[in-house]
Amino acid sequence: MRPLFRILPMLLFPFLSGAQERCASAFHTTDITHTGNATPDLNSEIIIPVVVHVIWRTAAENISDAQIHSQLDALNADFSRKNPDFREVPAIFAGRAANAGIRFVLATADPQGRPTSGIERRQTTAQLWINDDRIKKTSTGGSDPWDSRQYLNIWVANLSSTLIGFSTFPEAPADKDGIVIRYNAFGTSGTLSPPFDRGRTLTHETGHWLGLKHLWGDSPCGDDGVEDTPRQRSGNKGTPQFPRINTGCENGPYGDMFMNFMDFSDDRSLLMFTKGQTDRMRAQFLPGGSRHSLLTSKGAGEPWNLQPDTAPGMSNIIEVFPNPAVHYINIRSSMEMPATFTIIDTNGRLVKSGTLNKADQRIDIGSIKPGMYYLRLGITVIHWIKGS
Ligand SMILES: [Zn+2]
Repeated sequence: MRPLFRILPMLLFPFLSGAQERCASAFHTTDITHTGNATPDLNSEIIIPVVVHVIWRTAAENISDAQIHSQLDALNADFSRKNPDFREVPAIFAGRAANAGIRFVLATADPQGRPTSGIERRQTTAQLWINDDRIKKTSTGGSDPWDSRQYLNIWVANLSSTLIGFSTFPEAPADKDGIVIRYNAFGTSGTLSPPFDRGRTLTHETGHWLGLKHLWGDSPCGDDGVEDTPRQRSGNKGTPQFPRINTGCENGPYGDMFMNFMDFSDDRSLLMFTKGQTDRMRAQFLPGGSRHSLLTSKGAGEPWNLQPDTAPGMSNIIEVFPNPAVHYINIRSSMEMPATFTIIDTNGRLVKSGTLNKADQRIDIGSIKPGMYYLRLGITVIHWIKGS
């Protein structure tokens, strides 16, 4: 977890000054046991299909596809040691840096094998989300995960002011597995809040998702279990200068590896994973490892289910979401577009009608009173609820 505490006036958030709980995710030390002779094959690139769930209430939170793509690009650069700012790493630490050989791609096939952009958008009425996993359920205003054995699930939303991201560790329950990032700390272009504007929040959380701890192991001068990262007292912040030496931890003469992605420095100061860290992450993909199933995921391949959502001789199947809805309903349908629709109330009265076209399959329902309605599209009727 990376906390958002640097850019907030402390007077407004007095509870923060004593609350140093920067990462609430407890790490199970048994998860990370890894023997030296089981080194993963570093010659093959690991490809991880990703689904991004954009959970939005305001227009700003509904970040653009371009912002999402900028984040995937930054994540892949960081995981392959191709980030352009890597050159700022001090030479003594640059020699320990490594390419993880892991690439993240937006899913091209959904769990049913249908074509997808790898981006799910859901409108919500929730203003803020906290580290309690409600965002991972459609029934609580979020979005259900796709099968986490096949996909990395990332939720993007407006997190509470103290939080910019959090992740599960390997072996989390399937319905909780994944990463949550604040919408304005996601990507390198679009709606962003400096200094969290180089996509490093996701890089850091993905490190956790693949089994990495914070460098200090979440205890003073603690250990992360990785040999080539120095001990350090605790998390750094801002933009530290090299060398940053904590006398208590005897980590001189080079001091803290504050430019490691698993520290808390600002985005511009987070620049590298070590060889030990990349080995640990890749070990999750070994047979028996908690991420092994992703190697056979079909999520990044050709969609294999191109049948329309209709049964033979039956009417078109349509989906309306979100449901309940407040401002808009989105339509997913196998019908030919354009198509006309009507909305009818429970007394059979026409409330609204119009035309759906291919580019914009959603209906503005902002002026409709709360209650239950029917949407008719072609000969198919589906009921939905207008929330308040
Ligand atoms: Zn963390």
